[in-house]
Amino acid sequence: MRKLLVAGNWKLNGSIAMTADLISEIIEGLPNEKNFDVAIFPPFVYLPLANTSVGNAIKYGGQTVSEHESGAYTGEISAAMLKELGCQMVLVGHSERRSYYKESSANIAKKFQAALKHGLTPVLCCGETLEQRESGVTEKVVADQINAVIELVGIEGFANAVIAYEPVWAIGTGKTASSEQAQEVHAFIRSLLSLKSDTIAHLVPILYGGSVKGSNAKELFSMQDIDGGLIGGASLTSEDFLAICQQADVLSS
Ligand code: PEP
Repeated sequence: MRKLLVAGNWKLNGSIAMTADLISEIIEGLPNEKNFDVAIFPPFVYLPLANTSVGNAIKYGGQTVSEHESGAYTGEISAAMLKELGCQMVLVGHSERRSYYKESSANIAKKFQAALKHGLTPVLCCGETLEQRESGVTEKVVADQINAVIELVGIEGFANAVIAYEPVWAIGTGKTASSEQAQEVHAFIRSLLSLKSDTIAHLVPILYGGSVKGSNAKELFSMQDIDGGLIGGASLTSEDFLAICQQADVLSS
C-alpha cells in the first residue's frame, strides 16, 4: 500500500524566522500518529535549521541538486552536501528549473542519479505546458521526461523515488487539473513504468502538483493513482498546509 505524501515546495520564499515558525506550527498541527508522510523543501540556506528542528515528523530536502560530485561549479550544491545536512529527499526537474534555468531532461536524469547515489529519494517533476496539452501531446511530453531517467538509471532507479505530475498550466495559476484529468495522466505514468516493471510501477508514489489547496486535496488524493501532492503556494502558511494534511489524514485513517 502506498502512503500519501504531502510535500511543500517553498521555492524562493522564507526567512530564518519564517522557517522556524512554520516548522514548529506544522509539527504542532500534525496528528501525533499519522499514516501519511509530510515533507518540506525550503531554500538551501534554511536546511540546517530544518535539520535541527523537524524531528521525526517531517522529511525535508533541497529544491534541486547538482549532477556533479564536486569541483568548479560555482553556486551548486551536491547530493553529498544535502545528505550531510540530513536531507532524505530532493526535488529534480521542477518545471521552473526546466524553463527558467534551461535544465534538460538529460541534466535532470543525472541529478536523479546523483541523488540516488547518495541515498536521497529524488522527486522527479514532470508535466506539460498548456500549449502541449492543447496540441494533444501531454502523454508524449511526460513519457519523454520519465524515459530520459529510465534510460540513465534503469527502472530500478524508481524503486526509491517519487514522481510529481505537475501540469505547468496549473502551477501557481489557481487553475487545478480536475481530479479526472490528473488521474488520467497518473494512470498513464504508472502504465508507462509497468512496461518495465509492474512491481515498481505499483510501488512508486505519484504526487499531483498544481494549485492544490485544502478545498480540493481530498478529491484529488482520493483518486486511485494520486498518492498525495506537491504543494507550492499553499505550503507557505501552516494554516493552508495543515488544511491539506488534514485531508490526507482523513483519507489515511
Ligand atoms: C509547484 O510549484 O510545485 C506547485 C505545485 O505550485 P502551486 O501549488 O503554487 O501551484
